[in-house]
Amino acid sequence: MKKADVIVIGGSAAGITAAITCRRHYPEKSILLIRKEKQVLIPCGIPYIFGTVGSPDKNLVPDTVLEKNSIELVIDEVTDIGRLDRFVTTAKGEKIGYEKLVLATGSIPIIPPIPGVDMKNIFVVRKDVSYLQQMLEQLNRSSNLVIVGGGFIGAEFADECRKNRHIKITIVEMLSHCLMLTFDEDLCAVAEGIEKGYGINILEPEKVESFLGDSTVKGVKLASGREIEADTVILGIGCAANTKLAEKAGLELGPTKGIQVNRYMHTSDENIFACGDCTEKVSFFDGKPSGLKLASTATREARIAGANLFGTRRINEGVIGVFSTVLGDTAFALAGLSEREARQKGYNVVVGESEGPNRHPSGMPEMANLKVKLVFERGTGIILGGQVMGAKCSGELINAISACIHEKMTIAFPMGTHPALTASPVAYQLTNAAEMAIKAMRSD
Ligand SMILES: Cc1cc2nc3c(=O)[nH]c(=O)nc-3n(C[C@H](O)[C@H](O)[C@H](O)COP(=O)(O)OP(=O)(O)OC[C@H]3O[C@@H](n4cnc5c(N)ncnc54)[C@H](O)[C@@H]3O)c2cc1C
Repeated sequence: MKKADVIVIGGSAAGITAAITCRRHYPEKSILLIRKEKQVLIPCGIPYIFGTVGSPDKNLVPDTVLEKNSIELVIDEVTDIGRLDRFVTTAKGEKIGYEKLVLATGSIPIIPPIPGVDMKNIFVVRKDVSYLQQMLEQLNRSSNLVIVGGGFIGAEFADECRKNRHIKITIVEMLSHCLMLTFDEDLCAVAEGIEKGYGINILEPEKVESFLGDSTVKGVKLASGREIEADTVILGIGCAANTKLAEKAGLELGPTKGIQVNRYMHTSDENIFACGDCTEKVSFFDGKPSGLKLASTATREARIAGANLFGTRRINEGVIGVFSTVLGDTAFALAGLSEREARQKGYNVVVGESEGPNRHPSGMPEMANLKVKLVFERGTGIILGGQVMGAKCSGELINAISACIHEKMTIAFPMGTHPALTASPVAYQLTNAAEMAIKAMRSD
């Protein structure tokens, strides 16, 4: 029987990162990565296939990253894990032994049990090149697209599908605003304003009751009784941990139905680790179960799992969600807790906001507006969350805020400025948002 010191199952964000991290920490070990698909999509790039990028082929992770790290690649599906004798069996009938196994089997899109959901031209967001190619061809023929779900995926799909094609787009969102599971209402309202400005129709709060048509979708019936035409539907309502293999092997699952792991990413079998979308997660803030599924979180967990394979070196302190997106030319980003979520978790909060140009003087090239909203715990002044909106630098700024949250920093830290690169030191949004919160705390 063939054998590797480490087998990683899964070839996307978590699997690749776990394998590379293992190579870094344990250079002498043999590592084998098994994945189902021939070509791996960059998952976060999927919406851009339908607009900016233009095709699934242009949104692939190159296998050179595995070759460079001497990681053997097997394209096959693992069907069983023999835990006692430590081997995996594949669909092609191969048996491969391991010393340590990493499960990075990811997530699968949720298909709601709505009548008619299996009709032709109703799509979910599957990480599969040929499926997305078919979806692209259908969208290029489509004149009426309905997107079910106005979260990140729905909003990004709407913004990309409107580019380079004449198509009527409607988002049906169950909550009172799009992106509401992430941002506070003020940011959601700006995001919706941008989408509406591009002619995207938003129906909220509204629910799909059934899909209309015979074998091919022709429309959508809403809970309000309204019927709208649709020749293409995209379901963007979330995904569930892919635990099929883990369950079959008798590994424990957690409260959100992810593979149960401890703080070192061990599953209930000491020789099997798990990371990424397939695993159970807890919040950094209160240790409660968290359903967050993000590539950034997946790779963070994979780095911990990869480092701990042959000795405990790192600990997972729980999830701080860091989201970013861009609609039109406006970026939206969040780290940690929104004001609403912090209050729901029982924190007594104080909020500071600051907005202005991100260059000085404002006539400098590439100037854009930048708004920063910070949420602190009243009393301790510890930062709990941040939201950033406007300039494209939001994606990097939110990562700096995330580091502050992780380190439980209070209110302010030193910053540097430059006319061509940042806002002025007087108007620096991050500092000034914190200053506003200090003022609010002092005036209690
Ligand atoms: C449209 C879209 C946009 C997104 N945008 C962002 C974003 O901007 N930022 C962000 O942080 N996150 C984003 N995400 C979330 C991100 O894509 C996921 O969190 C990430 O893909 C998780 O990586 P993973 O490796 O855990 O799982 P997956 O990407 O689901 O990969 C699972 C892997 O396991 C393999 N596999 C499963 N079972 C088997 C088996 N039995 N045998 C062999 N191989 C198997 C699969 O083939 C695949 O290679 C987005 C998701 C989507 C769908």
